[in-house]
Amino acid sequence: MKLAELGEFGFIERIRRAVAGAPGVHLGIGDDCAVLELPPGERLLTSTDLLIEEVHFRREWTDSFRLGRKSVSVNVSDIAAMGGTPRHLYLGLGIPADLPVEELDAFISGFLSACRDYGATLVGGDTCRSPGPLLISVTVEGSAPSAEVVSRRGARSGDGIYASGTLGDSALALRRLLDGSLPDDVSAARHHDPRAQVELGRTLAKARLPSAMIDLSDGLLADLGHILEASAVGAEIEIAALPLSPAFRSALAEAPELIELALSGGEDYQLLFTIPPAREGELAAISTALGLPLTRLGTVTAEPGRLWLRRADGGREAATAKGFNHFSPFGKG
Ligand code: ADP
Ligand code: MG
Repeated sequence: MKLAELGEFGFIERIRRAVAGAPGVHLGIGDDCAVLELPPGERLLTSTDLLIEEVHFRREWTDSFRLGRKSVSVNVSDIAAMGGTPRHLYLGLGIPADLPVEELDAFISGFLSACRDYGATLVGGDTCRSPGPLLISVTVEGSAPSAEVVSRRGARSGDGIYASGTLGDSALALRRLLDGSLPDDVSAARHHDPRAQVELGRTLAKARLPSAMIDLSDGLLADLGHILEASAVGAEIEIAALPLSPAFRSALAEAPELIELALSGGEDYQLLFTIPPAREGELAAISTALGLPLTRLGTVTAEPGRLWLRRADGGREAATAKGFNHFSPFGKG
C-alpha cells in the first residue's frame, strides 16, 4: 500500500493508536499542541536531530524497524549526556511517495519500541510528502533537577577522562558497509541499533560526579575537543587505554591503521566524561552496578585546546580536535 491510499490522517491515526499514555502527558498526539508536565523543580532539556536518507543512512543497509529505533536513540543520547531523563519525543517525517506503508509501519514500530526502552512517549510531530529522500526529524525533551544538569563546561586540569563501553564498533561496521563487505554482527548491531546510555548519565549526574560530559556521536577526538573548548583546558589520551571490543581488536590485528576508527569514528553513542581526581574511586562501583565498562583514557591538562596522544612506546603526538591522521591513510586531518 502507498501512503496516498492510507492518507496523512489515516497514518497519524495509526501512530496515535499505537502510543500508550504516560504520567505527565495530559494530551499527546491529536490536538494542536501536546499538553505536558515535568516533575516539580526539574529543568527542561531539549534537542533535535535530522536524519536524511543518503546523508545519514541508506535504506538498503538497514531495515526500517532498526532505523526507527536508531532515530530515537541518537536523540535520547543527547539527554543522557546532560544527565537527564528522556520524557517526550516529536517526530517529523518527509515521506517519499513510493515508500510502502509496510516500511512506515515497521519504522514506527521500531521508533515506539525504543521509546518504551527509554520510558519516553511520542507526543506529536508532523507528516508531509517528500519529493526526494526520506527525511526524519526527531526532537526529544527530557528533564533533570537543576543541580544535576551536566554541561561540557566544567572540566578542570587534573580530572580523569573516561568513556563508557567500547569505541569504534559503529565506525568499523560503516567502514565494512562502505567497502561492500559484511560487518560482524556485534559491530553491525552497534551501528544500526545503538543504545543511549541513559542510566549511566543519570547515575553519574545524580551523584554529581562528572565535571563535564558529552555523548560520543562525532568521534572521540572531535567530541573531547568540544569539552576542551567549552572548558578552556587541554588533554592527554593514552592510545593503549582505548576500550576496544573483541571484534574490533581482531580487525585491528589485521589492519593496525583501523585504530583511527576508535579515535575519530563516530556514532558510538557512549558517554565521555571528566571526573575530579578525589572522586574517581567512586566509578568502579557504578561500573559494576550497571555492568558497563568505564575506562580511564587520560587526563585533563591546563593547556587550552591542546590534545596529546600518548603512544604505547611512550612518545606523544599532537592531535587536532578534528581528527588524527598520523596512523592512517584515510585520516581526516
Ligand atoms: P496541525 O495541522 O495542527 O499541525 P497535524 O494534522 O499536522 O496538525 O497533526 C495532527 C496531530 O498529529 C498533532 O497532534 C501532531 O502533533 C500529530 N502528528 C502529526 N504527524 C505526526 C508524526 N509523524 N508523529 C507523531 N505525531 C504526529
Ligand atoms: Mg502539522
